[in-house]
Amino acid sequence: MKIAIFSCCKYDQDFLQEYNTGHDLTFFESALTLQNAALTKGFDALCLFVNDSADRDVLYALKANGIRLILLRCAGFNNVDITVAAELGIKVLRVPAYSPEAVAEHAMAMILTLNRKTHKAYNRVREGNFSLEGLIGFNLHNCKVALIGTGNIGKAFYRILKGFGCRIVAYDPYPDPSLVEEGLSYGSLEETLKEAEVVSLHCPLSEDTQHMINANTLKLFKKGAMLINTSRGGLIDTQDVIEALKSAQLGYLGLDVYEQESKLFFHDLSGDIIQDDLISRLISFPNVLITSHQGFFTREAMQQIAEITFGNADAFESGLPLINEVKA
Ligand code: NAD
Repeated sequence: MKIAIFSCCKYDQDFLQEYNTGHDLTFFESALTLQNAALTKGFDALCLFVNDSADRDVLYALKANGIRLILLRCAGFNNVDITVAAELGIKVLRVPAYSPEAVAEHAMAMILTLNRKTHKAYNRVREGNFSLEGLIGFNLHNCKVALIGTGNIGKAFYRILKGFGCRIVAYDPYPDPSLVEEGLSYGSLEETLKEAEVVSLHCPLSEDTQHMINANTLKLFKKGAMLINTSRGGLIDTQDVIEALKSAQLGYLGLDVYEQESKLFFHDLSGDIIQDDLISRLISFPNVLITSHQGFFTREAMQQIAEITFGNADAFESGLPLINEVKA
């Protein structure tokens, strides 16, 4: 098939070329938008990532250009209007799980960095400053951590946290019996948020979960608690979180995702004036750590994404069952 690959960086291209099963690939650095949807003419399929938009208008443009298949090289599918895709007969396939450990390990890296301030110590020591002033942390052993969502990534993170000796509570509308057997206790969202010193989000972005962390739910947090979001930016109302940081209700914030990330993340904007005032405010807090959607970014995950993406393409082309189809 002729496949147009959007939001493609050099590292994506390297992995996709290595694992290509014989398709004709064209790489576009830009994200898919309505403005550049004309580029898709003459292709059979598109390969998209988290910040490409396949909303209603884009999907109509894709249909007119003859696109039959969207290959998402990610798990989340909030950027595709699945209902409209189904109406137009465009199949949407995704990579439902690729090294959930990669994201879980990144969540742990964020907790450890915010807590033990290794990023500050690194810079201090390089400047000849060996003082410990302001670097005090807390033990993760016995610390209570709330998992919001215990799917593939939440489960991998649960096991890492257990290894650190944390006490873990969870909220998920569909509790996992195997985790209950392992000793995990589930509660309501409210109970879970109230109890924890660290809250980590691992649920998908949907109409139900959009801005689930807002002024009201932040009031439930223990004063000074840590919030980690490696899932999707839209789970958090950023303005409300800024207010909670200013009042010290929130003690630490680790973000690998951001609601308006599509204009920023994956681009080198050093030297540019950042026009997004919310992220600029967030960056100004000493207790906020932001990474630009790199949770997935390990060699193992990139390899699995490429393999599963081409497996999906091959299944579609050969008329085999589409096990990774996203259905409306
Ligand atoms: P998953 O589908 O395996 O698990 C999601 C879990 O969330 C499920 O158990 C589901 O029941 C639960 N859930 C649904 N609604 C909920 C709600 N209202 N409250 C609490 N839990 C709810 O997904 P996953 O593979 O574990 O991934 C989780 C999210 O992580 C994805 O949706 C994606 O947005 C994000 N992600 C981020 C990166 C990254 O690089 N930062 C990489 C991959 C995935």
